Order: sequence, then C-alpha cells, then structure tokens
Amino acid sequence: MVQFNNTMEVFKLLEKTNCRECNKPTCLAFAAAVFQGRAHLNECPHIDEKIISKYGNGQNTFEPKISQDYQKKIDLLKGNLAGIDLPTKAEKLGGHFTNNKLTIKILGKDFSVDSQGNISTDIHVNSWITPPVYNYIINSSGLPLTGEWVSFRELQKAMDWHTFFNHQCVKTLKEVADTYTNFFEDIIKLFNGKQVENHYDSDISLIIYPLPRLPILICYNKPEDELESDLNLFFDSTADKNCNAEDIYTIGTGLAQMFKKLALTHG
Ligand code: SF4
Repeated sequence: MVQFNNTMEVFKLLEKTNCRECNKPTCLAFAAAVFQGRAHLNECPHIDEKIISKYGNGQNTFEPKISQDYQKKIDLLKGNLAGIDLPTKAEKLGGHFTNNKLTIKILGKDFSVDSQGNISTDIHVNSWITPPVYNYIINSSGLPLTGEWVSFRELQKAMDWHTFFNHQCVKTLKEVADTYTNFFEDIIKLFNGKQVENHYDSDISLIIYPLPRLPILICYNKPEDELESDLNLFFDSTADKNCNAEDIYTIGTGLAQMFKKLALTHG
C-alpha cells in the first residue's frame, strides 16, 4: 500500500471542486486531514476505486508511518551530513565553526550541529525544524541576501506550494494577528524580530530569521474603517536557492502553528 509523504500528494488526487460531501470545507482541508490520519481517502465519494485500493482502504496507519518516515529521513540526512565540510560551509551559511560544531542562529538563538548531526542548542527543538536545518547545511547555495523582497508566489521553485503555504501558514498567522494583535507583535520580537522602517507603511513590519539566509518579512495591517486587515509575508529573492521549497513551506507552517499555540496559551 502506498503512503503519502505530504498534503500535496493527496490534494493532487482530488477533484478540487470543494463540494463538501466529505464534510470538510475544502478539498485542501480534506487532503490535510487524510495526510494527518484524521480522515480516510474513501470519505471523498469522487475518488476512483483504483486510487482507493492503491492508497489503502482507510485504515489509519499514519502515526506509526510518520514517525518511521521521520526517523528514516533524519537518519538519511545525518548520513549525508557526515560528508560535508562543516568549517568551509559555516561562513557560506551565515554561521561559524568552533569546537567541531557548525553554529547558526535560528530565530536569534544559537543552534549547533556536529558532523554526526548531533544538535546542541538552548532552545526547545521542534521536530519540524530539524530536517530543514540539516537540508540547509547540506544543500543550501548560501547565496548572499539581495535585500529584494518577493512574495512566496514569486519564488520560482516554490510555486507548486503556494496554495498550501497560503492556507497553512499565512491564513493561520493572520488569524493570530487579528485576534491577538499586540501579542502577535510581541511573539515576533521574542524570536528576535527586527523592525523594518516604512515598509509598505504596515502597522507591523518585522523581519525574523528562521535560518541566517532565510529571512522572512512579516507585514500586517490592522483593520481600519471599511478596510479589512491583511497580512503578507515576503522573502529575499534568493530564498528558493538557499532553501528548498518544501523546507520553506515546513518552516512557515511550523512557525504559524508555534505562534498559534503561544497565543492560545499566553495571549
Ligand atoms: S468530497 Fe472530495 S471533491 Fe468534495 S470537497 Fe471533499 S475532497 Fe473535495
């Protein structure tokens, strides 16, 4: 039985009519639920029987599968890391190499990795950040930042992820910003967000650095008179060369979920 590696793989199999017959508001929401093991493919009446049998009859095998897959992915990345010249890579990646460890700043905090992939850091390591960090060390082009801000959609290699990114990251962040506006700004500053002066005249314009060569500019405008609030994220034009598209998506959605959790517990 074939298993899914991400939400997009499920989404591609759907009719994308958002008919709601599966009791989910959109096909995308259904795809996310299937990927996360909260729904079964056969709950969509529009999927061909052949596809259902290829991907299974709806038994929930997601949790053990994801932890096995995650561990496999980590082991593979650690193996690849062993062949990397960390001292040479350090400067290119915006970090430094001391005590046999490459150290980079993640959201303003030191995050060190040795050649076996062992991590040492002062911050709590969320599982979503580890694969993108390994990939960044192994594969990043380490291009210097241009200072030219572009939307996720404009990143050529990330175009396929645009719909998911908007849904899982931008929408969630906007909900947090709309509901907990002051706290939203505080969280970004807590993660070392830096002020950007006069950028689009937004009420909140802050840059965070999930990785040294992956700054994200967060611009939020509060609702005013007849105008609704809006939230936009911008990336340096080198983002999709310094990080692969899936990792940018993973980092964006990971941050959005982390902000949401913090807002719900402390906002
Ligand atoms: S029933 Fe199928 S086509 Fe309709 S919204 Fe759900 S997933 Fe999409």
